[in-house]
Amino acid sequence: RAKSAGGNRFETADAEADARAITRHGLTNALPAALERGEFFIEYQPLVHLGDGSVHGAEALVRWCHPQHGVLGPDRFIPLAEHTGLIVPLGRWVLEESVRQARFWQERHSDGGPLRINVNLSPMQLHHPGLVSDTVDVLERAGLEPGALCLEVTESALIGADDDLLKPLRQLAEMGVDIALDDFGTGYSNLANLRRLPVSVLKLDRSFTQSMQQHPADTVDVKIVEGIVSLAHSLSLAVTVEGVETGAQAAQLRELGCDTAQGWYYARPGAPDRIHSLLLADAV
Ligand code: C2E
Ligand code: MG
Ligand code: MG
Ligand code: MG
Repeated sequence: RAKSAGGNRFETADAEADARAITRHGLTNALPAALERGEFFIEYQPLVHLGDGSVHGAEALVRWCHPQHGVLGPDRFIPLAEHTGLIVPLGRWVLEESVRQARFWQERHSDGGPLRINVNLSPMQLHHPGLVSDTVDVLERAGLEPGALCLEVTESALIGADDDLLKPLRQLAEMGVDIALDDFGTGYSNLANLRRLPVSVLKLDRSFTQSMQQHPADTVDVKIVEGIVSLAHSLSLAVTVEGVETGAQAAQLRELGCDTAQGWYYARPGAPDRIHSLLLADAV
Protein backbone atom coordinates (compact mmCIF):
# COMPACT_ATOMS: atom_id res chain seq x y z
CA ARG A 1 0.00 0.00 0.00
CA ALA A 2 2.72 2.36 0.99
CA LYS A 3 4.57 1.34 -2.11
CA SER A 4 1.67 2.03 -4.41
CA ALA A 5 1.01 5.34 -2.70
CA GLY A 6 4.67 6.19 -3.24
CA GLY A 7 4.37 5.11 -6.84
CA ASN A 8 1.34 7.32 -7.32
CA ARG A 9 3.12 10.21 -5.81
CA PHE A 10 5.97 9.81 -8.28
CA GLU A 11 3.55 9.40 -11.14
CA THR A 12 1.80 12.56 -10.04
CA ALA A 13 5.09 14.43 -9.79
CA ASP A 14 6.10 13.16 -13.23
CA ALA A 15 2.74 14.08 -14.68
CA GLU A 16 3.02 17.56 -13.22
CA ALA A 17 6.52 17.98 -14.57
CA ASP A 18 5.33 16.78 -17.97
CA ALA A 19 2.37 19.15 -17.89
CA ARG A 20 4.67 22.03 -17.02
CA ALA A 21 7.07 21.11 -19.82
CA ILE A 22 4.17 20.86 -22.28
CA THR A 23 2.88 24.25 -21.15
CA ARG A 24 6.33 25.78 -21.46
CA HIS A 25 6.72 24.29 -24.89
CA GLY A 26 3.27 25.51 -25.93
CA LEU A 27 3.88 29.00 -24.55
CA THR A 28 7.26 29.20 -26.27
CA ASN A 29 5.72 28.25 -29.61
CA ALA A 30 2.86 30.70 -29.16
CA LEU A 31 5.08 33.71 -28.42
CA PRO A 32 5.71 34.98 -31.99
CA ALA A 33 2.02 34.88 -32.98
CA ALA A 34 1.08 36.46 -29.66
CA LEU A 35 3.34 39.41 -30.41
CA GLU A 36 1.85 39.68 -33.84
CA ARG A 37 -1.72 39.51 -32.56
CA GLY A 38 -1.10 42.08 -29.86
CA GLU A 39 -1.68 39.81 -26.87
CA PHE A 40 0.93 41.60 -24.76
CA PHE A 41 0.10 44.64 -22.69
CA ILE A 42 1.93 46.83 -20.24
CA GLU A 43 1.07 47.71 -16.67
CA TYR A 44 2.71 50.71 -15.05
CA GLN A 45 3.76 50.98 -11.44
CA PRO A 46 4.51 54.43 -10.04
CA LEU A 47 7.88 55.33 -8.57
CA VAL A 48 7.50 57.94 -5.87
CA HIS A 49 9.83 60.28 -4.01
CA LEU A 50 10.15 58.95 -0.47
CA GLY A 51 10.36 62.49 0.82
CA ASP A 52 6.95 63.78 -0.20
CA GLY A 53 5.19 60.92 -2.01
CA SER A 54 5.15 62.79 -5.31
CA VAL A 55 5.29 60.75 -8.50
CA HIS A 56 8.78 60.45 -9.96
CA GLY A 57 7.95 58.11 -12.80
CA ALA A 58 6.67 54.66 -13.60
CA GLU A 59 8.09 51.25 -14.39
CA ALA A 60 6.72 49.41 -17.41
CA LEU A 61 5.90 45.76 -16.61
CA VAL A 62 4.82 43.52 -19.47
CA ARG A 63 1.98 40.96 -19.26
CA TRP A 64 0.58 38.44 -21.70
CA CYS A 65 -3.17 38.07 -22.10
CA HIS A 66 -3.16 34.47 -23.26
CA PRO A 67 -6.36 33.27 -24.94
CA GLN A 68 -6.45 30.03 -22.87
CA HIS A 69 -4.36 30.67 -19.77
CA GLY A 70 -5.52 34.19 -19.00
CA VAL A 71 -3.12 36.92 -17.91
CA LEU A 72 0.42 35.63 -17.45
CA GLY A 73 3.12 37.50 -15.53
CA PRO A 74 6.56 38.12 -17.02
CA ASP A 75 8.19 35.42 -14.92
CA ARG A 76 6.15 32.88 -16.93
CA PHE A 77 7.28 33.99 -20.39
CA ILE A 78 10.27 36.37 -20.31
CA PRO A 79 12.69 33.46 -19.70
CA LEU A 80 11.13 31.63 -22.66
CA ALA A 81 11.36 34.71 -24.87
CA GLU A 82 14.94 35.21 -23.76
CA HIS A 83 15.70 31.60 -24.66
CA THR A 84 14.31 31.83 -28.20
CA GLY A 85 15.43 35.37 -28.95
CA LEU A 86 11.88 36.71 -29.19
CA ILE A 87 12.79 39.00 -26.31
CA VAL A 88 14.46 41.31 -28.84
CA PRO A 89 11.30 42.24 -30.80
CA LEU A 90 9.15 41.94 -27.65
CA GLY A 91 11.52 44.21 -25.72
CA ARG A 92 11.53 46.69 -28.58
CA TRP A 93 7.73 46.75 -28.52
CA VAL A 94 7.69 47.34 -24.74
CA LEU A 95 10.18 50.18 -25.14
CA GLU A 96 8.26 51.80 -27.98
CA GLU A 97 4.89 51.49 -26.29
CA SER A 98 6.02 52.74 -22.88
CA VAL A 99 8.08 55.61 -24.29
CA ARG A 100 5.03 56.73 -26.27
CA GLN A 101 2.92 56.44 -23.13
CA ALA A 102 5.43 58.51 -21.15
CA ARG A 103 5.35 61.23 -23.78
CA PHE A 104 1.57 61.23 -23.64
CA TRP A 105 1.65 61.75 -19.85
CA GLN A 106 4.23 64.50 -20.21
CA GLU A 107 2.15 66.38 -22.75
CA ARG A 108 -0.81 66.36 -20.40
CA HIS A 109 1.14 67.23 -17.28
CA SER A 110 3.83 69.59 -18.47
CA ASP A 111 3.60 71.48 -15.18
CA GLY A 112 4.16 68.30 -13.17
CA GLY A 113 7.87 68.17 -13.97
CA PRO A 114 9.58 65.63 -16.15
CA LEU A 115 7.91 62.28 -15.71
CA ARG A 116 10.27 59.37 -16.10
CA ILE A 117 9.71 55.95 -17.59
CA ASN A 118 11.63 52.85 -16.50
CA VAL A 119 11.93 49.93 -18.90
CA ASN A 120 13.51 46.54 -18.14
CA LEU A 121 16.18 45.18 -20.45
CA SER A 122 17.06 41.52 -20.49
CA PRO A 123 20.59 40.21 -21.08
CA MET A 124 19.97 39.26 -24.69
CA GLN A 125 18.83 42.80 -25.50
CA LEU A 126 22.12 44.06 -24.08
CA HIS A 127 23.99 41.84 -26.49
CA HIS A 128 21.86 42.86 -29.45
CA PRO A 129 23.72 45.23 -31.81
CA GLY A 130 20.59 47.32 -32.47
CA LEU A 131 20.08 48.42 -28.87
CA VAL A 132 21.47 51.95 -29.18
CA SER A 133 20.00 52.75 -32.59
CA ASP A 134 16.61 51.26 -31.68
CA THR A 135 16.49 53.29 -28.49
CA VAL A 136 17.49 56.53 -30.22
CA ASP A 137 14.91 55.83 -32.89
CA VAL A 138 12.09 55.15 -30.41
CA LEU A 139 12.89 58.30 -28.40
CA GLU A 140 13.02 60.47 -31.50
CA ARG A 141 9.80 59.17 -32.93
CA ALA A 142 7.96 59.68 -29.65
CA GLY A 143 9.60 63.05 -29.02
CA LEU A 144 10.77 62.05 -25.55
CA GLU A 145 14.04 63.46 -24.24
CA PRO A 146 16.62 60.75 -23.40
CA GLY A 147 16.82 62.01 -19.81
CA ALA A 148 13.26 60.83 -19.20
CA LEU A 149 14.15 57.21 -19.94
CA CYS A 150 15.68 54.82 -17.43
CA LEU A 151 16.74 51.38 -18.61
CA GLU A 152 16.85 48.74 -15.87
CA VAL A 153 19.47 46.03 -16.13
CA THR A 154 19.90 43.40 -13.45
CA GLU A 155 23.06 43.28 -11.48
CA SER A 156 23.57 39.66 -12.54
CA ALA A 157 23.43 40.59 -16.24
CA LEU A 158 26.39 42.89 -15.72
CA ILE A 159 28.54 40.64 -13.56
CA GLY A 160 31.83 40.18 -15.30
CA ALA A 161 30.66 42.41 -18.16
CA ASP A 162 33.53 43.38 -20.42
CA ASP A 163 33.94 46.68 -22.23
CA ASP A 164 32.20 45.37 -25.34
CA LEU A 165 29.04 44.71 -23.37
CA LEU A 166 29.25 48.00 -21.49
CA LYS A 167 29.87 50.10 -24.59
CA PRO A 168 26.24 50.43 -25.72
CA LEU A 169 25.18 51.24 -22.15
CA ARG A 170 27.90 53.89 -21.97
CA GLN A 171 26.70 55.39 -25.24
CA LEU A 172 23.14 55.52 -23.94
CA ALA A 173 24.30 57.01 -20.64
CA GLU A 174 26.25 59.69 -22.52
CA MET A 175 23.05 60.61 -24.37
CA GLY A 176 21.41 61.17 -21.00
CA VAL A 177 19.54 57.88 -20.60
CA ASP A 178 19.66 56.66 -17.00
CA ILE A 179 20.81 53.12 -16.40
CA ALA A 180 19.55 51.44 -13.23
CA LEU A 181 21.02 48.35 -11.64
CA ASP A 182 17.91 46.29 -10.92
CA ASP A 183 17.55 43.79 -8.05
CA PHE A 184 20.69 45.24 -6.54
CA GLY A 185 22.19 43.31 -3.66
CA THR A 186 21.34 39.85 -4.98
CA GLY A 187 24.10 39.47 -7.55
CA TYR A 188 27.13 39.27 -5.28
CA SER A 189 28.91 41.81 -7.43
CA ASN A 190 31.96 43.56 -6.19
CA LEU A 191 30.90 46.95 -4.90
CA ALA A 192 34.11 48.49 -6.21
CA ASN A 193 32.93 47.33 -9.63
CA LEU A 194 30.19 49.94 -9.51
CA ARG A 195 32.66 52.62 -10.51
CA ARG A 196 33.20 50.88 -13.81
CA LEU A 197 29.51 50.64 -14.71
CA PRO A 198 27.65 53.46 -16.48
CA VAL A 199 24.81 53.34 -13.96
CA SER A 200 23.13 56.25 -12.21
CA VAL A 201 20.52 54.43 -10.13
CA LEU A 202 20.63 51.44 -7.78
CA LYS A 203 17.35 49.58 -7.33
CA LEU A 204 17.65 47.82 -4.04
CA ASP A 205 16.16 44.35 -4.21
CA ARG A 206 12.83 43.62 -2.57
CA SER A 207 14.47 41.17 -0.16
CA PHE A 208 16.01 44.10 1.74
CA THR A 209 12.67 45.82 2.02
CA GLN A 210 11.05 42.62 3.25
CA SER A 211 13.69 42.08 5.90
CA MET A 212 12.85 45.54 7.27
CA GLN A 213 9.34 44.32 7.95
CA GLN A 214 10.20 40.83 9.20
CA HIS A 215 13.05 41.72 11.49
CA PRO A 216 12.59 45.31 12.55
CA ALA A 217 15.20 44.78 15.23
CA ASP A 218 17.65 43.05 12.95
CA THR A 219 20.33 45.63 12.55
CA VAL A 220 22.37 43.69 9.97
CA ASP A 221 20.13 44.43 6.98
CA VAL A 222 19.60 47.96 8.24
CA LYS A 223 23.37 48.41 8.36
CA ILE A 224 23.77 46.94 4.88
CA VAL A 225 21.16 49.29 3.44
CA GLU A 226 22.78 52.20 5.26
CA GLY A 227 26.12 51.23 3.76
CA ILE A 228 24.73 50.82 0.26
CA VAL A 229 22.97 54.19 0.43
CA SER A 230 26.07 56.00 1.61
CA LEU A 231 28.26 54.30 -1.01
CA ALA A 232 25.68 55.04 -3.73
CA HIS A 233 25.37 58.69 -2.76
CA SER A 234 29.14 59.12 -2.60
CA LEU A 235 29.24 57.84 -6.20
CA SER A 236 26.34 60.21 -7.11
CA LEU A 237 23.93 57.33 -7.65
CA ALA A 238 20.28 57.53 -6.64
CA VAL A 239 18.76 54.71 -4.61
CA THR A 240 15.33 53.28 -5.38
CA VAL A 241 13.75 50.61 -3.21
CA GLU A 242 11.35 48.01 -4.56
CA GLY A 243 8.63 46.01 -2.88
CA VAL A 244 7.51 48.58 -0.31
CA GLU A 245 4.32 47.09 1.12
CA THR A 246 3.84 48.97 4.40
CA GLY A 247 4.07 52.49 5.71
CA ALA A 248 6.55 51.29 8.32
CA GLN A 249 8.92 50.04 5.62
CA ALA A 250 8.57 53.31 3.73
CA ALA A 251 9.37 55.28 6.89
CA GLN A 252 12.38 53.16 7.73
CA LEU A 253 13.78 53.32 4.18
CA ARG A 254 13.21 57.08 4.08
CA GLU A 255 15.08 57.32 7.37
CA LEU A 256 17.93 55.34 5.84
CA GLY A 257 18.24 57.92 3.08
CA CYS A 258 16.74 56.07 0.11
CA ASP A 259 15.52 58.45 -2.60
CA THR A 260 12.59 56.83 -4.39
CA ALA A 261 10.35 53.86 -3.81
CA GLN A 262 8.02 51.50 -5.55
CA GLY A 263 5.60 48.97 -4.09
CA TRP A 264 2.08 47.92 -3.27
CA TYR A 265 1.96 50.37 -0.37
CA TYR A 266 1.88 53.14 -2.98
CA ALA A 267 0.25 51.35 -5.89
CA ARG A 268 0.16 48.01 -7.64
CA PRO A 269 1.09 47.90 -11.31
CA GLY A 270 -1.95 49.00 -13.30
CA ALA A 271 -3.40 50.51 -16.43
CA PRO A 272 -1.89 53.74 -17.80
CA ASP A 273 -4.97 55.71 -16.66
CA ARG A 274 -3.95 55.12 -13.09
CA ILE A 275 -0.69 57.04 -13.55
CA HIS A 276 -2.67 59.76 -15.32
CA SER A 277 -4.92 60.24 -12.28
CA LEU A 278 -2.00 60.09 -9.85
CA LEU A 279 -0.33 62.87 -11.81
CA LEU A 280 -3.53 64.89 -11.67
CA ALA A 281 -3.63 64.41 -7.91
CA ASP A 282 0.11 65.19 -7.78
CA ALA A 283 0.82 62.41 -5.26
CA VAL A 284 0.12 58.77 -4.54
P1 C2E B 1 11.48 43.78 -11.57
O1 C2E B 1 11.97 44.61 -12.70
O2 C2E B 1 12.34 43.69 -10.38
O3 C2E B 1 10.03 44.37 -11.25
C1 C2E B 1 9.49 44.44 -9.97
C2 C2E B 1 8.53 43.30 -9.71
O4 C2E B 1 8.06 43.40 -8.37
C3 C2E B 1 7.28 43.33 -10.57
O5 C2E B 1 6.87 41.97 -10.78
C4 C2E B 1 6.27 44.03 -9.67
O6 C2E B 1 4.92 43.76 -10.00
C5 C2E B 1 6.65 43.45 -8.33
N1 C2E B 1 6.25 44.31 -7.22
C6 C2E B 1 6.11 45.65 -7.20
N2 C2E B 1 5.80 46.10 -5.97
C7 C2E B 1 5.72 45.00 -5.17
C8 C2E B 1 5.42 44.82 -3.78
O7 C2E B 1 5.18 45.75 -3.02
N3 C2E B 1 5.45 43.55 -3.32
C9 C2E B 1 5.74 42.49 -4.12
N4 C2E B 1 5.72 41.27 -3.57
N5 C2E B 1 6.02 42.63 -5.46
C10 C2E B 1 6.02 43.87 -5.96
P2 C2E B 1 6.38 41.47 -12.21
O8 C2E B 1 5.55 42.51 -12.88
O9 C2E B 1 5.82 40.11 -12.03
O10 C2E B 1 7.74 41.38 -13.01
C11 C2E B 1 8.71 40.43 -12.65
C12 C2E B 1 9.99 40.66 -13.41
O11 C2E B 1 9.81 40.42 -14.81
C13 C2E B 1 10.51 42.08 -13.30
O12 C2E B 1 11.18 42.26 -12.08
C14 C2E B 1 11.45 42.12 -14.50
O13 C2E B 1 12.70 41.55 -14.19
C15 C2E B 1 10.73 41.22 -15.50
N6 C2E B 1 10.04 42.06 -16.50
C16 C2E B 1 8.85 42.69 -16.42
N7 C2E B 1 8.58 43.35 -17.56
C17 C2E B 1 9.64 43.14 -18.38
C18 C2E B 1 9.98 43.58 -19.72
O14 C2E B 1 9.26 44.33 -20.39
N8 C2E B 1 11.17 43.13 -20.22
C19 C2E B 1 12.01 42.33 -19.51
N9 C2E B 1 13.17 41.94 -20.08
N10 C2E B 1 11.74 41.93 -18.27
C20 C2E B 1 10.56 42.32 -17.70
MG1 MG C 1 12.75 46.34 -13.00
MG1 MG D 1 13.61 45.08 -9.67
MG1 MG E 1 12.93 42.28 -8.76
